[in-house]
Order: sequence, then C-alpha cells, then structure tokens
Amino acid sequence: MVRSTAPWPGLRPPRETAAAPAWNTSGLHDMTTIDLARYIRDVPDFPVPGILFRDITPLLRDPRALEEAVERMSTPWLGRRVDLVASIEARGFMFGGAMAVRLGCGFVPVRKAGKLPWRTCSVRYTLEYREDVLHVHEDAVERGQRVLVVDDVIATGGTAAAVVELVEKLGGEVVGVQFLVELAGLHGRDLLEGREVRSVLVL
Ligand code: AMP
Repeated sequence: MVRSTAPWPGLRPPRETAAAPAWNTSGLHDMTTIDLARYIRDVPDFPVPGILFRDITPLLRDPRALEEAVERMSTPWLGRRVDLVASIEARGFMFGGAMAVRLGCGFVPVRKAGKLPWRTCSVRYTLEYREDVLHVHEDAVERGQRVLVVDDVIATGGTAAAVVELVEKLGGEVVGVQFLVELAGLHGRDLLEGREVRSVLVL
C-alpha cells in the first residue's frame, strides 16, 4: 500500500513516496520506511504571533510513526548505561516515558511550578516566547546516576539547558540530550555545548 496524500490537513507533502512498513519477525516494523517529517504540522503564529509552532500531534496519533520516533530517539543510547531519562512536561513526557521503557531505565519528570508534591530543586530559564521555572524532586537523581535528557523540540535550547543544570545540581551525570525535532535556525545547540546532542529531525 502506498500513501498518496498527506494524512492530515496542514501537513507538508511527502518528500518521497513512503511504502507501508513491512512487519518483521520481532513484531517491529521496518524502521526505514517512514518520513517522520510528514507527521509534523507547522502552525504559524501559535501560541503568539511570529512563532512557527511544530505540532507533533499527527505523529503521536499514528502508531507506526510514534513507534519509529521512539525507536530512533532510543537507539543511540542503547548499551550506554543510562540509569534515568529526565523529561520536561508535557510533550517531553510523551517520548521520555516510552524511551525509558525501551532503554530499561527509570523516568524522572521535570515539571512546572506547583505540580510536584514533594521537596523540589528548581531553576529559572528563558523560552523562545516566555520565561518559566522548572522543578524536579530533590531525590529524583542519586549522585553519580547517568541521566539522558529528553524533549520533543529544541528551539532556543533554554529548556534543555535548564534540565541539564537541574540534573547536575542533584549530582547526576548527563549522558546526553535527545530531541525528536531540532529547529536548526535557532541554534539551540549552542547552549548545550560540550554535550552529546542528538535530534531525529532537523527542520
Ligand atoms: P527552547 O527552550 O526554546 O528550546 O524551547 C523548547 C521547548 O518549548 C520544548 O519543550 C518545546 O516543546 C517548546 N517549543 C519551543 N518552540 C517551539 C516551536 N516552535 N514549536 C514547538 N514547540 C516549541
């Protein structure tokens, strides 16, 4: 079966014809057949004028695209002794939780103010379109634990840099930083200099 049209309004046209995934004996489909960029919808002027928002919900609702995204985000870190995945609410959780299961490690939620019930450590940071504070439980990371930081999108890099700072404040060792989408024009990587930074899609 060949997809001939974009699956949802607002999605870009396919760069190439994507054949339906072939299912292999492990139950996982052939990971080479899906152009994940087709499942990211560009929404101009959201949440404020001037921002081109990269909407991942079309990818989330497609089981094969979602599986491939999680797989491609996880594969580089297999065998790297990752103890914990730390992700940022809310969209980071959608990938970070699945990746933790795939990597056989634990999961640490990094959340906005007022959401975590116990004692927290916090850091203030600047986003592409606002300022905010992130919190993590004080006991979320033990000294020396190896932590992979995960988010859906890197824009300016401020959010991921804040999570790296939080993990290191608690004594964790940041193994690397993984994104689904990197907005290359915003040079967010510069804030993560010296870290191993990976993105599945560079837009
Ligand atoms: P930043 O700290 O600037 O790298 O922003 C990254 C965070 O904000 C991620 O958690 C994204 O979910 C969100 N974000 C920022 N800019 C965008 C955008 N243009 N499209 C989608 N999500 C964005």
